[in-house]
Amino acid sequence: MVVVMKPGSTPRQVEHVVQRVREMGLKDHVIVGTERTVVAVIGDDRFKDRTVLESIEGVEKVVPILAPYKMASVEVRKERTLVPLGGKLGGVVGGRKVAVIAGPCSVEDRSRLLETAHAVKEAGAVALRGGAFKPRTNPYTFQGLAEEGLKYLAEAREQTGLAVVTEVMSIEQIPMVVEYADVLQIGARNMQNFNLLSRVGETRKPVLLKRGMSSTLEEFLLAAEYVLAGGNTQVMLCERGIRTFENDYVRNTLPLAIVPELHRRSHLPVVVDPSHGTGKRHLVEPMCLAAVACGADGLLLEVHPDPEHALTDGAQSITLAQFRDLMASIRRVAAAVDREV
Ligand code: PEP
Ligand code: MN
Repeated sequence: MVVVMKPGSTPRQVEHVVQRVREMGLKDHVIVGTERTVVAVIGDDRFKDRTVLESIEGVEKVVPILAPYKMASVEVRKERTLVPLGGKLGGVVGGRKVAVIAGPCSVEDRSRLLETAHAVKEAGAVALRGGAFKPRTNPYTFQGLAEEGLKYLAEAREQTGLAVVTEVMSIEQIPMVVEYADVLQIGARNMQNFNLLSRVGETRKPVLLKRGMSSTLEEFLLAAEYVLAGGNTQVMLCERGIRTFENDYVRNTLPLAIVPELHRRSHLPVVVDPSHGTGKRHLVEPMCLAAVACGADGLLLEVHPDPEHALTDGAQSITLAQFRDLMASIRRVAAAVDREV
């Protein structure tokens, strides 16, 4: 449930509500809005007496949250969440500007990473992506450079000011990845690794949560809820395509209707990944345009100086030159829907 305070309620009244919520064995989360403060009550409140809270001075009303996800829901928070990415370029996801996060699928070597970082920055990206820990289907293929890769990412940030977005695959990797990264990516295969989600929820790094390839929208939002329930409010939802019977002309099917639907149900920003969403280089640009047109707050793109020789995901990686052209195209679409890039 949500305890909605009256406009002009005092901090002491809010504190009183918080105390009573805790006495009821529930968790509180105070959200100070521009007009009024609300206290989100988290936990199983089905058998709790709402009237206790309703009678506290300064309380306007107590309303149940109908969605199974609570903190992620617009019922708890009406204002859109803005997620600052870190780095020196001031990139934010969720505002009027569409944030572009670009870079290789995997960090492969220092010089190619730095070359890519400089190129995507010049073209207008605000963050650099690149996996140092790779979730590979085949255990005999390239698994990532681990800490060495993280060091190259940090060096690229140093040189360009780009924020660093990189995947953390397990709980044991969290301290190391937190040391180097600005944003923790949770991969599609880990979207329902609930222990990992809870632990990244204890960090204060922004989280880019990818949708599981066979997960429903509700499961996706409940996964985000695990992170939010830990107290980490900086969550971005990333649609990266789902598995369907279609596996030839595309690797995954990119369901863009999820963008407006997530915006309708949640205040969290939505990022679209047309690289994994299609698996095909020639489909990346058109799907970027469509994603921006339907309201995406950010794009996650695989870019490589020599995709043919990429160690991972070359077929869906665009070249540095294609990335520059793509940025010019998405700027036109963004302007048409009253956004900027
Ligand atoms: C990636 O971003 O390279 C990646 C492994 O993505 P996903 O988890 O969506 O497959
Ligand atoms: Mn990839």
